[in-house]
Amino acid sequence: MSKLALLGGRPVRRKPFPPYRTLDQRERQAVLRVLKSGVLSKFLGVFHPDFHGGEQVQQFEQEWAKRFQVPYAVTTNSATTGLYAAIGALGIGPGDEVIVSPYTMSASASCVLAYNAIPVFVDVQPDTFCLDPDKLESAITPHTRAVVVVHLFGHPASMEAILRICRRRHLALIEDCAQAVGATYCSQPVGTLGDIGVFSLNYHKIIHAGEGGVIVTRSEELATRLRLIRNHGEAVVEHLPTINIVNTLGWNFRLTEMQAAIGLAQLGKLPGLIEARVKLADYLSGRLKAFEGLHPPKVSPGCSHVFYVYPLRYEEETVGMSRNLFVQAMQAEGIPLSQGYQKPLYLLPLYQQKVVYGAQGCPFTCGLYKGQVDYRKGLCQTAERLYERELIYHALCRPPLRFADMDDILRAVEKVYDHRQELRQLQSSIPAQDGAPLA
Ligand SMILES: *Cc1c(COP(=O)(O)O)cnc(C)c1O
Repeated sequence: MSKLALLGGRPVRRKPFPPYRTLDQRERQAVLRVLKSGVLSKFLGVFHPDFHGGEQVQQFEQEWAKRFQVPYAVTTNSATTGLYAAIGALGIGPGDEVIVSPYTMSASASCVLAYNAIPVFVDVQPDTFCLDPDKLESAITPHTRAVVVVHLFGHPASMEAILRICRRRHLALIEDCAQAVGATYCSQPVGTLGDIGVFSLNYHKIIHAGEGGVIVTRSEELATRLRLIRNHGEAVVEHLPTINIVNTLGWNFRLTEMQAAIGLAQLGKLPGLIEARVKLADYLSGRLKAFEGLHPPKVSPGCSHVFYVYPLRYEEETVGMSRNLFVQAMQAEGIPLSQGYQKPLYLLPLYQQKVVYGAQGCPFTCGLYKGQVDYRKGLCQTAERLYERELIYHALCRPPLRFADMDDILRAVEKVYDHRQELRQLQSSIPAQDGAPLA
């Protein structure tokens, strides 16, 4: 049995995994064409044809809408601002509550605070890591206006059950699809099942434009309101007399022509990129399930997963060593595993201290807010358990990696499992450390 790398032995893998690079001559040519045109952006924040942006922005929006089978796609400069616009477009404001998963990137909930509304956190399912529909209903109050679901790691949330509750209780549904571009639920692309879907084009998402976001909706009115929020709506609404002006104070959330041109090229690559991810993930899952105490990601019936991240559930008791020690041992073998993912959001200082706008507790202390929100530790026990003890992940199921790279992961797991006895004795002497975070 070869010596563990953690104890000075030879690692299973010495060369780093190659980075995710999806740009080629298509993006280069697209950018050059834009540069040659001399038009890097064409948005005007007034009532004018250029209110909708330039040629590339509009073409990208049309292509996106076509690919996702929706009438409207609205680009933004990030998914964060896309989520802000989504909350704003729904007319949510002071006094309102919005239900959100706590186990996600911070913007899934900060969009609610951005409009002075209150995020209410509802726990996730232990196997899909997405909002648990069984816990949704009891969190609804007379103040609840909407739900934000997150298709975490690229796996769709339980949309049928969540949609049923939202419809019955007259709640809007926003889908945060930042990690799940191209994932489907009952053959329908995520983002198109609720009222508004938001995708990210930041540099570490499945397709990217450096930064960027795309919002989709089937509602013409919402599309108009999203565009107003994106681009100085206050200067435009007087020309749109039928629009409800609530929350149409606008920002500058505009995407540039170069980003849109890159986005167009990237969109064409999406099916191939997803296919490569799924192949690698299926290969890995088929072999990892042989290791007791290590649970490969579930793909729910009727769902397709796009594996932005490849998550594993780790059972400390079964494996017989701490998650931290396992991750450290794997990292030493040359496999960059990470643990925990994001701390459940309500445990962040902003929620614990309820300090958002100014020092007076706004929006929690707002006179219009009649609810009682709870951010105590223990609120979402599944999310806390995943964060503290169970979740391990990597972002290695992606091109240009191949099955041979997956084999390195598997050989490292096998080696660490073979040394379980030895590692148990080390248990307490290894400090906690995490890999590169994903946001
Ligand atoms: C990345 C991400 C965002 C934010 O995307 P940006 O484009 O970086 O603003 C929002 N939600 C989730 C779940 C994300 O992973």
